[in-house]
Formats: sequence, structure tokens, C-alpha cells
Amino acid sequence: MTFKELGLAEPILKALEAEGYTHPTPIQEQSIPILLKGKDLLGVAQTGTGKTAAFGIPILHHLYEGISLSQSKRKVKALVVTPTRELAIQIGESFTAYGKHTGLRNTVIFGGVKQGKQVNALRGGVDILIATPGRLLDLMNQGLISFRDLEHVVLDEADQMLDMGFIHDIKKIIAKLPPKRQSLFFSATMPKDIVELSRKMLGDFERVTIKPEQATAEKVEQGVYFVQKANKPKLLVHLLEQQPQDSVLVFSRTKHGANKIVKKLAQADIRSAAIHGNKSQTARQKALGDFKDGKLKVLVATDIAARGIDVEELSLVINYDLPNVSETYVHRIGRTGRANASGTALSFCDKDERPYLRDIEKLIKQEVPRLGPHPFMDDSPEEKEDRPQRQPRSNNRSRGQNNHKKKSGNSNFRGKNNRNTNKPKPRNFNSSSE
Ligand code: AMP
Repeated sequence: MTFKELGLAEPILKALEAEGYTHPTPIQEQSIPILLKGKDLLGVAQTGTGKTAAFGIPILHHLYEGISLSQSKRKVKALVVTPTRELAIQIGESFTAYGKHTGLRNTVIFGGVKQGKQVNALRGGVDILIATPGRLLDLMNQGLISFRDLEHVVLDEADQMLDMGFIHDIKKIIAKLPPKRQSLFFSATMPKDIVELSRKMLGDFERVTIKPEQATAEKVEQGVYFVQKANKPKLLVHLLEQQPQDSVLVFSRTKHGANKIVKKLAQADIRSAAIHGNKSQTARQKALGDFKDGKLKVLVATDIAARGIDVEELSLVINYDLPNVSETYVHRIGRTGRANASGTALSFCDKDERPYLRDIEKLIKQEVPRLGPHPFMDDSPEEKEDRPQRQPRSNNRSRGQNNHKKKSGNSNFRGKNNRNTNKPKPRNFNSSSE
């Protein structure tokens, strides 16, 4: 299936070609036809699956097709609500890229900055509005946004909005939208509150489920180092020194931990920056911008802050701490396995974290190869019950070093950005078979 076969308007096809998108990802292939028919959609999928284009492309198509008929050019006709400013900015960039030949205009609004510029952009007229919930509701309450002409609404990362306490804002926003509209609802997970919310928001909907857990885990090269907590900074420095040219995203469970890692790296003359909720928006955007541009090689992030990170050439994710929620591990390593590209994810595991490792392995249904030897090895033996019950898959990579797995038929998936070709080998971290 190609984008052309989906029957999209010519200016959109042209933009997708320029982006290097040749084939739709599974979520795009399944969702776009449903959305082009005007139906509502419940998408169970996370970022990294090509979700933004899955909703962005059909919205642009509808709005573009309607332009000549519509008296309401430059009135807000599509609204995307997303939890963080990073995600909002990224979605705005995607609409700009996919819609660059359509003449449609989008703007992004989020909190933490003065509202003046955003209000001016709204006054200038926009077709597509991308917003975080707090600022959106605030501007709506001030009477600065009209949704009279709204035709499409997207709720993105609904489960994260719930986690961040936005659920009441979301309900208030939805209540103020015109009832005759196309509604799209995306969430990586479907806890009870989210199911209820989706029922309230959606009319006659179809459901598309993309299971990223295994898919992501399978295409990312993974490994774990057993290391004592006190030695984690040294191991990190050791690894980063081996591959100074790589863009590396380091995950820390806590904000405080993230700051500490940055300090430790600075002591070893490795430049890095932390992004998390306690950093100012300017600092976060600067760090993210520098990282995306390749000026900053090491970014240390907490889970929430990292959800919006979409970096083309991110070759390595390091889990400095193992998360106690296994799904978080999958989200983290998905930062490097964007869309159908692959990458490497290495985890540090101290003795207390071994049960987390076991839970992760149960979820992804594969064994994470134990890597070593390394200078800071914690060689206390693994408890029997710390090991996963399942045998590693038959193409278990725990013994080989050069067996990067490519997804069949997808190695050119990202076109110009295909990273399978230049992805580093897992560093001498020959997996030991314990
Ligand atoms: P998302 O899930 O929307 O955050 O997208 C993940 C990444 O996949 C982004 O870097 C997109 O630019 C990229 N992407 C989305 N759709 C395609 C496609 N059909 N072909 C190639 N790359 C894509």
C-alpha cells in the first residue's frame, strides 16, 4: 500500500514525498481510510508508530478539499489537544511539513509562556490549532478562541493527560465543542478512566490497535549491565567515552537524579543537559533544540519530559535506572526505535532493580542480553527467580555481537533518514551468556 493508493490530495502526496515517506506505517494504513470516510477513531497506540501523520494527513486532506467550498477559511476547523508543550510543538511541525503545499495554517499554544504571541497568532486566523489543555482552557475561558467552525478534534496521549491531572480540563474542553464533529482519541494504554472518557467523546467509532510493546522491543537492540548503584556514573562515563559521536538519551527515574547525572558527567568533561518538569520551558527547549541539532550529544531526561522527544538520529538510549513500571521501559527504548527504524538501548541494573528487569522481560517476552565483562561489573549471582521464565527467542541475540536485526522489508523505511545503515554496533559489550 502506498500513500497514493489511499487517495490523498496531490499537495499532501508531494509533501510526504519530500519527507521521505514512501509507505504508510501500520497505524497510518489502518486509520487513514477510516478517517477519510469521516468516522470517529479510537487509536490504541503510542508515539513512535507514525501516529501524528495517521491523524494529521486525513485532517489536512479534508480541510484542503473543503477550502474552496468553505466560507470559513482561517477559522479553527481542527483542534489537537496533547499533554506537553514538546509534543505540541512537534505535532505543529508535522502539520507544517505535511501541509506545506495546502495553504493551511496551524498554530501551537501551550502554557509557561506569556499568552500575547499565541493570542496574536489566533487573531491572525488559523485552520488547525494544537494545544496543551491548561492554556487552551484558559484562552477559551477568556473568550479568545471560537470553535463554531470546528470539524475535527484529536485527543492525543490521553493516558498521559490522565497521569498529569488534566482529565477535568479535558472534560470541560470537550463539553464546549460543537457536537457535530469528527473525534479522534489516542492513548497508549486504556485504563478504566480512559475508556470512560473515550466513550463520552466518540460517536460512531472504529478502533485501531497497534501493539508497540513487542514490535518496539523486537527491533531495538537491547542489553543490560549489572552494576552497583555507586558505580553507575563511572559506567556511564566509560560508555560515553567509547562513542563520543553518538546522540545519547539517558533516562533517570527522578528529576534530582537527572541533575546529578549531568553534574557527574561534567566532572568527566562530558557536556550534557537535563530536561524535566522543574526546568524552565526555555531551558528545556534549548536543551532539546541543541540535542536535535547535534550540538549536544547527551541529554538526560525523566520519563514524562522524554515523551515528546522525537530525534531522527537517536542511536542510543541508556536506562540509567530501570523503571519499576515495565511499560515505561518499552516507551523509553521506543525513543530509539522510531517508526520502523531500529536502535540500541542499554540498561544499568543494580541488585535492587533485578526484579524490575524480570518484570520487563515478562512483558516483552524476551530476555534482555546480559552484557559484560565491563570494569564496573556487579557479579553477584542472579537469583534463579530473577530470570525470566521464557526461553529467549530462537534468534536470541545474547550471544552474537554483529547480529543487528533488521525488520524484513523495512530497512529503507525511513528513506533519507534510515538509521539502520549507520547504527552503531553494540559496543564491545559482548554479551556474556551466563
Ligand atoms: P510519531 O509516532 O507520529 O511520533 O512518528 C514517529 C516518527 O516516524 C517521526 O519521526 C515521523 O517523522 C516518522 N514517520 C511517520 N510516518 C512515517 C512514514 N510513513 N514513513 C517514514 N517515517 C515516518
